[in-house]
Amino acid sequence: MDDRERRIIKQHARTSALLGVDFVPAYSRGAAVEPDSPEPVPVAVPEPRANMVERVAEAPARVAAPRPVARPNTPRDRAGTQSQLDALRAKYVADAPHKKFVTNFQNIVFGEGDPCARLCFVGEAPGEDEDLSGRPFVGRAGQLLDKMIVAMGLRREDVYICNVLKTRPPGNRTPTQDEVAACKPYLLEQLSIVMPDAVVTLGLSATHALLDSTEAMARLRSKWWSMQDSRGRAVPVMPTYHPSFILRSYTPENRAKAWEDLKMTLEFLGLPVPARTG
Ligand code: URA
Repeated sequence: MDDRERRIIKQHARTSALLGVDFVPAYSRGAAVEPDSPEPVPVAVPEPRANMVERVAEAPARVAAPRPVARPNTPRDRAGTQSQLDALRAKYVADAPHKKFVTNFQNIVFGEGDPCARLCFVGEAPGEDEDLSGRPFVGRAGQLLDKMIVAMGLRREDVYICNVLKTRPPGNRTPTQDEVAACKPYLLEQLSIVMPDAVVTLGLSATHALLDSTEAMARLRSKWWSMQDSRGRAVPVMPTYHPSFILRSYTPENRAKAWEDLKMTLEFLGLPVPARTG
């Protein structure tokens, strides 16, 4: 175990104690730490790179002024795009990358929403409710995500919602690096089909997966970063807290921070910012 891992475990124990949990779960390399903490893991902060959208070797790339994704000028063909997503789902089912891992899932939770959405929300992996229904973000966290979307002045059907993993990890544990590596290509292809103008990553696990980062949420959220989809298109990414974290730590401060991230996303998309109500 190296110093960084020791620090993460200490930090997790401190956060858990604050939440009333008096045990420390087994730590697996690459598992995400709790989204935010009083004491972020000290790692190098990437230099701000004005107007930079290409991803560079030492990812993630901070983007001071994200450039809208190049989209076709012609209206997009929703039915055609949905059938591309359906074909990708069929490929995922045939390839079954999740079969390489221990899993007792009931349903594949591929993703849902507007196939041509300008905004995608990406979570970590389906939980129990999602596993049973085959739909992303339908449990308690999903209900909060729905409220966040409505607070943005949008409807759930206006956005696209998916996860890094398409099947539920045993006991809802954080996906391992191997699981992420096996499933991420399908997510990158999904994003290249939907072609969103922006992606909001929900929680540390999805953020780390898409930005190839190991930095603390406190350093990542509320800033624009850049990722590349499977066709090499740079996509602006706004990390924010996972709704489950907000539910666990339902403080005015955390809710205000999440709203700040969503507001920045609306501003970037050129959409009106409604007055905050919750
Ligand atoms: N948490 C996630 O990360 N994704 C879901 O779909 C539900 C809960």
